[in-house]
Amino acid sequence: MAALPLMQGVCCPAEPLPGHAKTTSKQACFQEDHWKEKLRQPARIQVQPARQLQQAEHLGDYNIWSGRYAGEGFARPSRATTRVCLEADTGFTRADVFDRSAPICLHFARGCCTYGKDCAYRHCTPLGEDEKKMDASRDIFGRERHASFREDMGGTGSWSRECRSLYVGRIFAKPSEDIIEETVARHFGEFGAIEALRVLKPKGCAFVTYTARCTAEFAKEAMAEQSLDHDEQLNVRWAYDDPNPRAKAAKLRDYAQQMLSAMAARGDMAQPEVFSNMDFPVAKKRMVDRDVTRGYGADEAASGGSSFVPMMRQEHEAREAEVQRMHDERAALEAEQVAAAATEAEAGRLDAILQGIDDAKSCGPANPAGPLDEFYSFLEDGSNRDAPQPSAHAGSSAHAGSIPACSAEPPHSDGAQQPDLANLPPGVRRTRVAEEWIEYIDPSTRYPYYVNARTGESTWQKPT
Ligand SMILES: [Zn+2]
Repeated sequence: MAALPLMQGVCCPAEPLPGHAKTTSKQACFQEDHWKEKLRQPARIQVQPARQLQQAEHLGDYNIWSGRYAGEGFARPSRATTRVCLEADTGFTRADVFDRSAPICLHFARGCCTYGKDCAYRHCTPLGEDEKKMDASRDIFGRERHASFREDMGGTGSWSRECRSLYVGRIFAKPSEDIIEETVARHFGEFGAIEALRVLKPKGCAFVTYTARCTAEFAKEAMAEQSLDHDEQLNVRWAYDDPNPRAKAAKLRDYAQQMLSAMAARGDMAQPEVFSNMDFPVAKKRMVDRDVTRGYGADEAASGGSSFVPMMRQEHEAREAEVQRMHDERAALEAEQVAAAATEAEAGRLDAILQGIDDAKSCGPANPAGPLDEFYSFLEDGSNRDAPQPSAHAGSSAHAGSIPACSAEPPHSDGAQQPDLANLPPGVRRTRVAEEWIEYIDPSTRYPYYVNARTGESTWQKPT
């Protein structure tokens, strides 16, 4: 069952009401031109005045707004005795001559206007121009609309809602769904284009959504308490929402399709068409991300022919473990390299000191005590690392020979860096690069590397 686009219009039920011209059901689709042409003829009187008077005498005051006679209470309204026959009743009235912005006649819609061409309201079905100039605060009959629906979903409707959908209850539900749908479409399509029609056969009801609000307002009044092809008494109300799960699913699917198309247009997704043959129950599965979604549900993979391999939780954990293992290995390797560099630097430092002693001897007795002191301190190994070390200077092991042998005092770094040097392998330069990151020079390769002072993490990439 699909939504019917534009319904074939008919005028009257199979048996026309007394006083109505017999018309065939072979009207073309709803055509505005046809009804505009009809407005060239004078509107006819739908019901003789005497008949309405007789009713009024019998039942007391009739309230046209609430649609009830005084004292009638909330009893079920009686079956409609008149029904508009658009083909015969449409015509121009005083409103078309003097005030073309006048609302449509409510009694005309109910098929009981006694004024005919003398009516101060228009006698025609709502047309496109009506929808354009409609005021949200009033309906097509000029009645006030309200912020919310009436409790029984009757009345003029709510201006906070679209008000294009009607609930049609108490339909004779013996025929098949298709026949009911055709029947409802034939009777309700008479007033204007129908956008969607859903029939719930088990409940004997249908939801009719018109393309225009004014058409829905007109149809609601015109079809209230009427019958279709059988002897029903329809219950026509405003519909909040079509409760048919298929209708909801269709709406959701439309949204999803729109979204996917938009994503495809942006280039976020390669193949939106994969989703087009997705049945909706499948779509209820988790939508975490594209890969994971494809992974769930073998039926989807089968229908979509997707080449994605399902990834289970165990596989995911295994992959995570592998990544962690590789990370650990790399960290161990780096630590090894640092240790090797430290050892090498230590050897380089000793070379430098010995070289310094030799140089001092050859230079003469300028200050031989300096290099010797260094040598002794080196032998103590770490117990007095706080002392200024020549090897901690910018010159590293490879630059051992560059230490000024004859200088009056042993070269050392400036005082501010002294505390940092305590835990530093000799021959390695350190400078602060960014917050927490310190740059070191690898003595073996001469490449700088970076250590995070807080986490101990090291990297060859310069952190930003
Ligand atoms: Zn009228």
